[in-house]
Amino acid sequence: MGSDRRRAGDAGRAADIRVVIIGGGGTGAAILHDLTLRGFACTMVERGELTSGTTGRHHGQLHSGARYAVGDEEIARECMDEVRILGRIAPESIEMNYGLFLALSENDVTYGDTFQEACSAAGIPNRRLSIEEALRHEPAINPQAHFAVLVPDGTLDAYRLPLQFFATAVANGADVRSFTEVLSVESSGVAATGVTVIDYRTRRKERVPADVVINAAGPWGGQVAGRAGIDLPITPAPGTMVAVKGRLCNMVVSHLHPPGDGDIVVPQRRLSVVGTTQWETDDPDRIRTPEGDIRSLIRRGGELVPTLADAEFHAAWTAARPLAGRSSAGGRALSRDLEVYAHAADGLDNFYSVIGGKATVLRAMGQAVSDILCSDLDLNLPCTTATTPLLSHRHYFRRAS
Ligand SMILES: Cc1cc2nc3c(=O)[nH]c(=O)nc-3n(C[C@H](O)[C@H](O)[C@H](O)COP(=O)(O)OP(=O)(O)OC[C@H]3O[C@@H](n4cnc5c(N)ncnc54)[C@H](O)[C@@H]3O)c2cc1C
Repeated sequence: MGSDRRRAGDAGRAADIRVVIIGGGGTGAAILHDLTLRGFACTMVERGELTSGTTGRHHGQLHSGARYAVGDEEIARECMDEVRILGRIAPESIEMNYGLFLALSENDVTYGDTFQEACSAAGIPNRRLSIEEALRHEPAINPQAHFAVLVPDGTLDAYRLPLQFFATAVANGADVRSFTEVLSVESSGVAATGVTVIDYRTRRKERVPADVVINAAGPWGGQVAGRAGIDLPITPAPGTMVAVKGRLCNMVVSHLHPPGDGDIVVPQRRLSVVGTTQWETDDPDRIRTPEGDIRSLIRRGGELVPTLADAEFHAAWTAARPLAGRSSAGGRALSRDLEVYAHAADGLDNFYSVIGGKATVLRAMGQAVSDILCSDLDLNLPCTTATTPLLSHRHYFRRAS
């Protein structure tokens, strides 16, 4: 009873706390939804269209976590948990088509045992299939493979999933402002007090006051933190993807080896997407798609799904991962995990930066940031996003029209 009364009081306090979230990708969407559900007064600003950063450009693989199981059990377990949660709260944005990891070489055969043990340890269901059995599930795979491991991978719609979060947040009272760039983070000298933005549709500059500012600008997070005078340890790590025409496989097909280049083929609607590569950049606005990446991705993808090598080219593009930390080793050594920085440690209260993660775990990222904020503000407002079904992505556009 006492804790119910405290929660009601804390919800009242939250309603008076204005939060500005910078960045309209999946991370910003999930934070906006979570904090709005907990009762905060939230505004999100995005310099372009929603999901126009990395979120609208990834493969759209719904990771069971199998890809990460050998290297990082915790991330793998989190992915599996989130696959189950998204299946309940956002089924319209998900295709549960399962995944096959193919053992193509003798090294892969040896790695297979380690891989399956790691998947089992992380709670990821997995089953070894003979190549004949695997071909019955997915006729497009390389018949020369030694065997396959079946895991609950799937695909997600890179645009619709975050739009479901935006639609629900807006229905619950959040304010979403696209084509609005944050030019500076304002401060009193010791704490963030708001942001100055430019609305590109009206060309007007404006100050948006805030009690809390959250930097969810993905690979641009370093630039945004710089606008508050803070040096953020982040490595934008671009990767190329190639789409060919035709849905060559219905399952996600991966190479059974430690994560590397060109080792995933993801079916997306009537296309097949091969990914990816990885390097590092200082400026995510100046990344070009290397010609050599396109050729090597098609060649490597063809080792998994042979018809890919002769399929008609559709498009190639590049997006940058926001990796936490600094590296000069090509970025693969950096964790894919989420980092939340409370910049009180840098002398600026009420300003937070979020880096890392992946689209599959966007809801968990929103929860992690919101839990930290509530703890810092001493508010007892539990997360409810895991059990709150999201509105359809269509609601977002109905509101806008
Ligand atoms: C090649 C590649 C493949 C991937 N494949 C997968 C996959 O298959 N499955 C998966 O789960 N994950 C995948 N990921 C990871 C996933 O795409 C990212 O983790 C996720 O999209 C990051 O979302 P975000 O919201 O943090 O960043 P973003 O989507 O980049 O959002 C940040 C936003 O901030 C905005 N912004 C920047 N500066 C400002 C400013 N000053 N003012 C206002 N707004 C600003 C940007 O315009 C942008 O929209 C992949 C990543 C890459 C690079």
